[in-house]
Amino acid sequence: MSLPSAPAYDLVVVGSGPTGSAYVREVYERHPTARVLLLDAGPRLTDDPGRHVKNIPDPGERARAQRASEGPGPAGRPGTRLLGAPELPAAALSTNVGGMGAHWTGACPRPGDGERIGFLPAAELDADLARAERLLHVDAHVFDGAPFADEVRARLSALFDPGRAADRRVAAMPLAVTARADGAHVWSGTDVILGGAAHDERVEIADRCLCLRVDLDGDTVTGVTVRDQVTGEERGVGARAVVVAADALRTPQLLHASGVRPPALGRYLNDQPQIVYAVRLPDDVVAAHRAVTGRTRDEDGAIVPQSGVSWVPYTDAQPFHGQVMQLDASPVPLADGVEVAPGAVVGLGWFCAKDITPEDRVEFSDTETDAYGLPAPRIHYRYTDADLAAIERAKRAVAEAGAAVGIPLDDSPVLLPAGSSLHYQGTTRMGPADDGTSVCDTHSRVWNIHGLWLAGNNVIPTATACNPTLTSVALAVRGARALVEHLGSAVGHVATPAR
Ligand code: FAD
Repeated sequence: MSLPSAPAYDLVVVGSGPTGSAYVREVYERHPTARVLLLDAGPRLTDDPGRHVKNIPDPGERARAQRASEGPGPAGRPGTRLLGAPELPAAALSTNVGGMGAHWTGACPRPGDGERIGFLPAAELDADLARAERLLHVDAHVFDGAPFADEVRARLSALFDPGRAADRRVAAMPLAVTARADGAHVWSGTDVILGGAAHDERVEIADRCLCLRVDLDGDTVTGVTVRDQVTGEERGVGARAVVVAADALRTPQLLHASGVRPPALGRYLNDQPQIVYAVRLPDDVVAAHRAVTGRTRDEDGAIVPQSGVSWVPYTDAQPFHGQVMQLDASPVPLADGVEVAPGAVVGLGWFCAKDITPEDRVEFSDTETDAYGLPAPRIHYRYTDADLAAIERAKRAVAEAGAAVGIPLDDSPVLLPAGSSLHYQGTTRMGPADDGTSVCDTHSRVWNIHGLWLAGNNVIPTATACNPTLTSVALAVRGARALVEHLGSAVGHVATPAR
């Protein structure tokens, strides 16, 4: 469905990724009558809206779904398109029902130490993180049986755990993945977050429906203007509240297009510098493992392409986040005749927390447009001296971790191009006061605008190094409480917009 069926709704959510979908689910469950429209510029990929593409069994169909998510422009990682920004060359976007949540790896670590949002009450943040874990079906034990995972963690623990708090020690990565009774893995897409809301008549999902702007009467939201991406027809849709959850680069774009331009809009952009390194477990470790388990190579082959994910949590003392994947095949060519047991090649990805500055930003043109006809973005981004020092430190740490785990396959750790983490944050960040350094309040309401909420990694105000989606879904859970209050019980007085 490309255009909404009704002239007005209680709530319109723009963007159907994990954070927009979390708003839909929370409002659906907490408000007994609210009518909700969830719209996305991209296509619906599966019958069940928002299913993760990894759950599509046919490789051809999966590849088609990934291509359909890329939109116009050069492709990035499967399911994404590159923004084409020289200062953030790997910056990429997904445009499909489910957003990047139909393509993600699902790593859902909780933020720790300085990654946490200090001005939010700690108990409230923890409760919302717990709710986010339930919405995403997070489980840290789905790959417990992966070969060598215990061995890898034991080696990392010996290096990193001394002196760490219990919740900051090396652990299995919490993943938005569940194991079916037959042992197959199911990745959580936004179908999982939406749950029953996706199939109830109170919730409508419009795909290929581009939001052009949020409509306002003075400082009050009245709805959105949308375009049918198939026919080109444009129309206004009334709403008592709007959530913009259009990712960290396009959420500020829509605000700009709507004339909502607080000083912090688009600023404090941060991505996590990512360093990678690959090692191989020593042959004697592989042999000992086989002797203990009695497993053969073929039996070990049950490992999925990337599994056995382990986690080295961020701490203020060691300010990086480590994600350790075990691969079923070598990511780099090995010398002829070298046999690698599944799980014995270990990829280490270290993410740093960026030094946040207002100069790092996405700004928008009033004269040029992007492929969707919206204000063209331009990125300003650089590594500060503090960033360069943090990157060097993380390179040393990952080299040490690699040496502890096995035999290096790379000469030295490699810094990936900026934007590679796909974790763009801060561009509409929340703050405790309207002092020009934030776009929204602690419940994600845009300062001085009634009825406008924001969602996504863009709302996170801190420099996180860990994968941010769990945190931004938790902030959506928090914002949805205020939104339900805003909608109140007197539902039904939605304005019909002028056509
Ligand atoms: P998105 O999921 O990006 O969704 C935004 C949606 O808004 C899109 O569907 C887009 O089409 C829509 N939209 C934009 N503009 C408009 C408009 N004008 N009108 C209508 N719709 C619009 N994160 C983790 O935390 N852990 C991981 O392990 C992880 N792995 C990843 C692996 C890959 C390969 C990828 C691609 C991403 C990964 N991420 C990971 C990032 C994660 O997917 C994102 O953090 C998350 O999806 C952000 O959710 P969101 O709802 O804010 O935005």
